[in-house]
Amino acid sequence: TTMKTTPDNSGDVRLSGISKTYGSFTAVHPLDLTVPEGSFFALLGASGCGKTTTLRMIAGLEEPTTGTVRLGDQDVTHLPPYKRPVNTVFQSYALFPHLDIFENVAFGLRRRGIKSVRKQVEEMLELVQLGEQARKKPHQLSGGQQQRVAVARALINHPKVLLLDEPLGALDLKLRRQMQLELKRIQTEVGITFVHVTHDQEEAMTMADTVAVMNGGRVEQLGAPADLYENPRTTFVANFLGTSNLIEAEVGTRSGDDIVLKAGDGKLVLPGARCTAPTTAGGKVLVGIRPEKIALTHADDAGEIPAGRNRLTGRIADASFIGVSTQYVIDSPVCAGLSVYVQNVERDGRLVPGADVVLHWSPAHTFALDAAQA
Ligand code: ATP
Repeated sequence: TTMKTTPDNSGDVRLSGISKTYGSFTAVHPLDLTVPEGSFFALLGASGCGKTTTLRMIAGLEEPTTGTVRLGDQDVTHLPPYKRPVNTVFQSYALFPHLDIFENVAFGLRRRGIKSVRKQVEEMLELVQLGEQARKKPHQLSGGQQQRVAVARALINHPKVLLLDEPLGALDLKLRRQMQLELKRIQTEVGITFVHVTHDQEEAMTMADTVAVMNGGRVEQLGAPADLYENPRTTFVANFLGTSNLIEAEVGTRSGDDIVLKAGDGKLVLPGARCTAPTTAGGKVLVGIRPEKIALTHADDAGEIPAGRNRLTGRIADASFIGVSTQYVIDSPVCAGLSVYVQNVERDGRLVPGADVVLHWSPAHTFALDAAQA
């Protein structure tokens, strides 16, 4: 659309040392964060981690206790919300019920005294694919359509940054998934910075190019979705993004760039680059391996497992068919009572509870965390 402008960094968001305390409670610890113009950025975390407070400080709805908020070259820390080049879309989209869709979207322009609004409103309605609905009232639209009206109503003000606070929270799962792709398409089309708050890891990973995982008022890790998933640096991140098996192990010898880990009487190989824990011999680490990276072979066929794979022996405790795959819980002597989760798409009639199995995976899919941190 004609909305797309050339980047000039005026849509950069720079938070320097911003924090927020309520009385003696610290909701957000001093935080440094840069969101480059044009990116789709997600603040992800469980309820109470401080993500909404962070977003509200960018919007100007909350005054930071310390620190500064910059949008592009402008220090907006002390500007009221309406003087900032940002707009916020909330979960409760609060459309005007008595106005039709066209007038809801036109609202921002009319308030600024702009008379000829038709072209811009129509363009916005096209963008969110509601061109046909212009003369309906909000209650005649579905939840997903209403949410798109809220997005159009915000974007018509040409903000440099669009802030989204759990905008899909009220929608059912299927509609949520559709709207995630829809919002991503809209962001790509308009090219402005989106900062999106969610507690849903799949949502953050689907939509955002950069995700900040928040915990207890701090950003624990920041990165591209695949990087966070494959190289989590803390147990919190490992467990918050998908399911992670974490097995206690001890650092053994080095073999070239590889580190050999002792897990019970088993040996696991870890590429040195994938270890964020101290690697002095004897150090305790948690070995991480994602369920879908593990293959399961019946113990009778163990001889067929290719060399060079990491292996653990175990016994199937539970097998649940979940459609796309079967989810196994494995008891393994090396995990001392800890169950290992395996997601396996191959079928083998012998892989039933009680069967002895070998779990195996590529060393490249292994990561290790500092056990002392956990
Ligand atoms: P949620 O998804 O539940 O909104 P969140 O991660 O967005 O969670 P925030 O809303 O940022 O969390 O709140 C962070 C913490 O600050 C919470 O423990 C909350 O209770 C507290 N908090 C937020 N606003 C206030 C306030 N006005 N006064 C006191 N405490 C507050």
